[in-house]
Amino acid sequence: MITSKLSFHGPPNAAELQRNQSNLRFGPKLEAEYARTHLINSRTLILVACVVATLLATLRGSEQTFVSGWGSGDPIGLVLVILGSLVLTTIAWSTAFERMYLPWARLVVPIRNIIVAAHVATAASHGQLELLMIMPLALIGPFFFLGFNFRTGLLCGVLTSASFIAYTVFLDLPLPIVLRTSVFLLMSLVACTIVARHLDKGARNAFLEARVNVELAQNDALTGTKNRRVFDEYLVRIWSRAIEDGRTIAILLIDIDHFKTYNDRYGHQAGDQTLRRVAQAVQTVACGPLDILARYGGEEFAAVVYDVDKQQAAQVAERMRLGVEDLSIEHQGAGTVARVTISVGVAAIKPTRERNAQGALQLADQALYEAKTSGRNRIKITSDTEHSMLVTGIFSTSLHAPAMDKKQA
Ligand code: GH3
Ligand code: MG
Ligand code: MG
Repeated sequence: MITSKLSFHGPPNAAELQRNQSNLRFGPKLEAEYARTHLINSRTLILVACVVATLLATLRGSEQTFVSGWGSGDPIGLVLVILGSLVLTTIAWSTAFERMYLPWARLVVPIRNIIVAAHVATAASHGQLELLMIMPLALIGPFFFLGFNFRTGLLCGVLTSASFIAYTVFLDLPLPIVLRTSVFLLMSLVACTIVARHLDKGARNAFLEARVNVELAQNDALTGTKNRRVFDEYLVRIWSRAIEDGRTIAILLIDIDHFKTYNDRYGHQAGDQTLRRVAQAVQTVACGPLDILARYGGEEFAAVVYDVDKQQAAQVAERMRLGVEDLSIEHQGAGTVARVTISVGVAAIKPTRERNAQGALQLADQALYEAKTSGRNRIKITSDTEHSMLVTGIFSTSLHAPAMDKKQA
């Protein structure tokens, strides 16, 4: 099982996975994402529930029309129930399913159930006791309609039972009938709740495990930043995207100064801890929706910051440098400052179709080398002028790079 294998520094979703053992709710952002994924996965189940509910409501309407006469029960209630079921079925079938189904179901299902409870109680008060059998079905329905979401299903069930009991008391139904039906309702509700809880928990765990697996494949295990493979693939895609959008990007190579000495002096464990803290400090700067930070190797990180000119790129790099210096991690072997510092090489480039990203990466590397040789704990920046003089990356493969989906980027 994934949870037991995860260390303290495991992927963020792993911690959520552990929390989810007892709590069937994520934080707001993750909850919204889960609700969307779960909704898509439950579409067939929802469609079946909607069609069955529409058929049952129509059957009951026909029965009332042909057997006891349309006006004998509460025709308006029946029409509303049929309409509600039809609306949900139509949305479940349509392309608007993802966007519209849940908000509508959360509104329609409880109202529909309250009307059903009123209809059954009224029919029972007119001697149609066989209709009481519908009530357990009315309790189970919401669990199917809402994709076995434990909380909303339970809430709907309680609301349905309470309104049914209120109607029976209001209509003065005989006590033994009220009691017997209430017991059946309670038993159905308990059974549904247990099943829904089990399914909800399973679906949530499966959702988190899938995310943990993606994180494990894409992220560096020590620092939690993206790994080099993801960075290289992303760079190709963002290069094409920047060409399409006519934007400038900054490629930054970030290297911890005198880190070998740090390990030698403070030990490898402390080195690991420092790597994590530096990664966090740098990540808070490269945090735009199209930015990426990756561990590029050993104690070196690479970042892409999207849509920044040369001056802004220099500011970004400087904020990273200051952010790390402000961590105030003692490093006696780091020259004058006696703290852990970084050097940053930046290439601020406007990508073109004639070149791929390799040249820009080489420029950032050269800039990093300059930052190192001119004393460390500093940034160096290069831009299009130097880029045009480079041979690397001309006649790019990026011409053939897949176009970047704006959302995916
Ligand atoms: P410079 O300022 O020129 O970058 O010097 P440096 O010592 O940082 O560079 P060098 O390339 O000589 O050494 C890099 C060191 O980074 C060597 C290695 O011990 C350390 N390192 C690389 N990966 C890890 C890691 O995962 N954990 C720890 N603790 N140290 C690492
Ligand atoms: Mg170094
Ligand atoms: Mg290095």
